[in-house]
Amino acid sequence: METFDIVVIGAGPGGYPAAIRAAQLGASVAIVEKEALGGTCLNWGCIPTKALIGAADLVHRVRHAQSLGITVQGLGVDYAAMIAHKDKVVSQLTGGVKQLLTANGVKQFSGTAAFRDRGAITIGGATPIGARKFIIATGSTSAEPRILPRHERVVESRRFLELKKLPERILVLGGGFIGCELACLAALLGSKVTVVELLDDVLLLLDPDVRREVRSSMEKELGIRILTGKPLEGIAADAKGVRGTFGGETLEADLLLSAVGRRPVTEGLGLENIGLKVDARGFIEADEYGRTKVANVFAIGDVTGKTQLAHFATSQGITAAENACGGRLRRNETLVPNVIFTCPEVGTAGLSEDEAKKQGKAVVVGKFHFRGLGRALAVDETAGFVKWIADAATDQLLGAAAVGAHATELIAEATTAIRAEFTAREFGRTIHAHPTFGELWMEAAHSVHGEAIHSPPRKK
Ligand code: FAD
Repeated sequence: METFDIVVIGAGPGGYPAAIRAAQLGASVAIVEKEALGGTCLNWGCIPTKALIGAADLVHRVRHAQSLGITVQGLGVDYAAMIAHKDKVVSQLTGGVKQLLTANGVKQFSGTAAFRDRGAITIGGATPIGARKFIIATGSTSAEPRILPRHERVVESRRFLELKKLPERILVLGGGFIGCELACLAALLGSKVTVVELLDDVLLLLDPDVRREVRSSMEKELGIRILTGKPLEGIAADAKGVRGTFGGETLEADLLLSAVGRRPVTEGLGLENIGLKVDARGFIEADEYGRTKVANVFAIGDVTGKTQLAHFATSQGITAAENACGGRLRRNETLVPNVIFTCPEVGTAGLSEDEAKKQGKAVVVGKFHFRGLGRALAVDETAGFVKWIADAATDQLLGAAAVGAHATELIAEATTAIRAEFTAREFGRTIHAHPTFGELWMEAAHSVHGEAIHSPPRKK
């Protein structure tokens, strides 16, 4: 039996960086992947959605470029070509992962891994390979609620991204970030979209002011109908279409996209053979070192049920790899930036205003609107704002949110400032180049003390 220091199960953004890190530290490493290198993120998640959303955003900007003196006649959208672009990017990136693993001496196996015992796994029920330590990085997949009929008109995000043509009318079930991003994508490209969310609002993890900005743009600019606070009932699908009722009203569409959450992937992994139990929701518990309850088995990424984001999986992966190689790296990471590629985009980092209040912290908020910024006016991207959440007593920056053009890029600077434990005063004194969108943060930091230069003084 071939034996390694470390075997990683699953090659998503958790697993493949873990394998590379362990190899960098001198371990002999193997990785087993049952479908495609890069996992959900590269193949059916972050990258393909952003390839399509990037194209849709360009269409949107061209359509609105008249204010800048640009008119385009005969603007066409070839969705099949957009899909081909997406597929090309995916294959370029997954090819890159393969090269990196190979260059780092990580042995790659294709097939489904299952634990035989605490010292070995099998691949596809045969080929046992042994290891001293294992890192489980098997990720998550779309939840498929039983209320949904099994029909080709009912799809989840992965299948949605494979469609060669967007249907005219789409019903999106679930107003989380995946549902809202894909709703914006389809609406920007001309589909008539209705989003149904059981909870009281879409994107409920965001502060109400940020949420309002996104929702209002989705409804007014993109024409998306958003229905909240009640379930979609009696869902049925046939050759003619898909339908359901919301509060007594019948909703009809050509396709239903289900985006109601993700469930962990652990079936067939043979966890019972190593005595590792999953929690009540099916996730594998892992501590700040990445350790599970079985001494030589680590778990990282979506399967651990913590923050389900690619960059968080990578951070957990590197921590687990270092500890599997004998390190003592403890990371109780609470500063995880979050980006949402709706129209407009959103970026958040650290505490939201709501979270800070729930934690009983006295905070001061400093806001600055894009419409007050020279650069934003120059390029006609004036919707939205950024805000800092600062500790009222110490002035330390605790959290940030940006909603508007480039918000997903802008949040990087705020994340670094929070990490560095800057105060609003220190940040405000950091000279920002003019004219740039980065000045939004500087003005908002001044605004924490009511001293923004480019907004009128607060009323006393
Ligand atoms: P995964 O990426 O799910 O990888 C797990 C891998 O393990 C898979 O390749 C799977 O085939 C393999 N595997 C499972 N079981 C076995 C087994 N028994 N044997 C061998 N291999 C196995 N996150 C962001 O940060 N930003 C975004 O913009 C973003 N957009 C998203 C959009 C969509 C539509 C979706 C669905 C998700 C998005 N995410 C985004 C979330 C992100 O994709 C996940 O958080 C991330 O992929 C989790 O990484 P992971 O390594 O834990 O698992």
